[in-house]
Amino acid sequence: MTSISPTQNTHPTSKPSRPSLDELWMPFTANRSFKSAPRMLVAAKGMYYTTDDGRKILDGTAGLWCVNAGHCREPITEAIRRQAGVLDYAPPFNLANPLSFELAQRVTKLMPRGIDRVFFGNSGSEAVDTALKIALAYWQAKGEPNRVRFIGRQRGYHGVGFGGVSVGGIEANRKQFVGQTLPAVDHLPHTHDIAKNAFSRGQPAHGAHFADALESMIEKHGAATVAAVIIEPMAGSTGVLLPPKGYLERIREICTKHGILLIFDEVITGFGRLGSAFGATKFNVTPDMLTIAKGITNATVPMGAVCAKSEIYDTIVNSSAPGIELFHGYTYSGHPLAAAAGLATLDLYRDEGLFDRAASLESYWADAVHALRGSSKIIDLRNMGLVAGIELEPRPGAPGARAFEVFLKCFEDGVMVRSTGDTIALSPPLIVEKPEIDRMFESVRKTIELVS
Ligand code: PLP
Repeated sequence: MTSISPTQNTHPTSKPSRPSLDELWMPFTANRSFKSAPRMLVAAKGMYYTTDDGRKILDGTAGLWCVNAGHCREPITEAIRRQAGVLDYAPPFNLANPLSFELAQRVTKLMPRGIDRVFFGNSGSEAVDTALKIALAYWQAKGEPNRVRFIGRQRGYHGVGFGGVSVGGIEANRKQFVGQTLPAVDHLPHTHDIAKNAFSRGQPAHGAHFADALESMIEKHGAATVAAVIIEPMAGSTGVLLPPKGYLERIREICTKHGILLIFDEVITGFGRLGSAFGATKFNVTPDMLTIAKGITNATVPMGAVCAKSEIYDTIVNSSAPGIELFHGYTYSGHPLAAAAGLATLDLYRDEGLFDRAASLESYWADAVHALRGSSKIIDLRNMGLVAGIELEPRPGAPGARAFEVFLKCFEDGVMVRSTGDTIALSPPLIVEKPEIDRMFESVRKTIELVS
């Protein structure tokens, strides 16, 4: 376990010298506003970031849901350093490096039974688009080429590839690209039902029936046209939406009944976030494919992957003529540095028992989340594993503004939280200590009171 640094040092200690900010086009950022008041991170260790003006920031979000073992962990850093000096790169087409095979095997050992093939890419977005392609290739290989339709879910986030934004259900991520997203896609209703489930601890009681919309969609289009359903077991990026009790089981049941592939996008929920290796293991519902990224390397080197049942691999590989079986792959699939980082990361998760640690902190965490109840600005509190969603009443005419202001003020206060719409999301590294949990929620509580 990393040692815990002293908490805040929230006052600037030095005047930063900054590079020109003009040239970089920042992703998912209000560029003009950021460049007028930048927040620059220059170092990190354990639970803390350091800003370029020398402040320590407690990381309440594991970066972007990805630094599950905490920052700059020496075993991972050392593995990357060592690998960079031994084999910096190896082409993955018709050649390979042994670490990628080793990592594939290690990943499958954490997966639910039956998920035992791994295809590597570099990000969650690539994993999602890869999974969609594998689904199409699978149905072609099986002699059912009319199965081309995908079903995602409203408010779902599946990255930013054309496949991902098509099956994703966040309108803002599609609206600038209208006309060229995938044509045969439907979206299930989302499962957020504040009227019935507000302030639920863990999985909400009401809403398994939201899964029944899948039956209606299948009936409308015909099961023989549907390739796959893709959902996040817990929707993260849209603002922490938990699956109602019985919902995932029902989705699984319907997919099985109609022979439709079920893909769980576990880019956020993977690697201990919910107090179990994956959402699939937490909820005990096994999909046909899982997409993963982020925590696989503790975010040190970009990597993503699709994990699939061997039946999917076998169908595609064995049905094709000799030669390449799947016309898909990336220059950096199974990159040696990412694979080395991944192996060291999985060792660390195992050696420090971090998934169990997240589970053992879950109840303390849930108490801290629900202790926020009482502010008139908070309309819902949600928790699962080491994830919290704190939903605020939107400011009239300015959706998202209040939560964004909380993010800014918490950052000033030395705590990193994430705002998405009107929800504050917290998801710290799994090494978090109880006093740090207290500090995060105290900052959020204080800040919510401060903002209008
Ligand atoms: N899928 C889910 C569920 C995610 O939460 C994310 C990112 O947050 C992605 C896919 C996309 O991952 P990336 O940003 O690595 O492309």
